[in-house]
Amino acid sequence: MHEIDAEGGCRCGAIRYRASGKVFGQATCHCRDCQYASGGAPAYVFVMNKNAVQITKGVPAHFDSLADSGNRRRRYFCGTCGTPIFAEDSGFPDIVSVKAGSLDDPSLYKPAAEFWLSSAPPWHPIDSSLPGFDKGPK
Ligand SMILES: [Zn+2]
Repeated sequence: MHEIDAEGGCRCGAIRYRASGKVFGQATCHCRDCQYASGGAPAYVFVMNKNAVQITKGVPAHFDSLADSGNRRRRYFCGTCGTPIFAEDSGFPDIVSVKAGSLDDPSLYKPAAEFWLSSAPPWHPIDSSLPGFDKGPK
């Protein structure tokens, strides 16, 4: 486990945040919800404590959906430019997933696992050197 101290936000600048603290995991998610959110690609996320992430500008829009687990997934995005920024899961109430692409320096992302391979289309890039799971984290 390591720490990051990074800033990020959306494409248009309406939403800004600081993510400062421990990273519990970095993972790639191939589920259908993430594909919809990205326009096709998997999601690349930093998993952190909610209290390690502070929104410093703006109020993101959100959309709730029911996950396969039965948990409520809440996705936060910029209501103006649509950039996906965070995701939360009611089964992990202290945790937030920060979308790597919303960081000012997305090169900080180093994936450690891949989830929902069962939903990946044949053209998704999959790193076979990483632990891979057919479904989501439990
Ligand atoms: Zn925006």
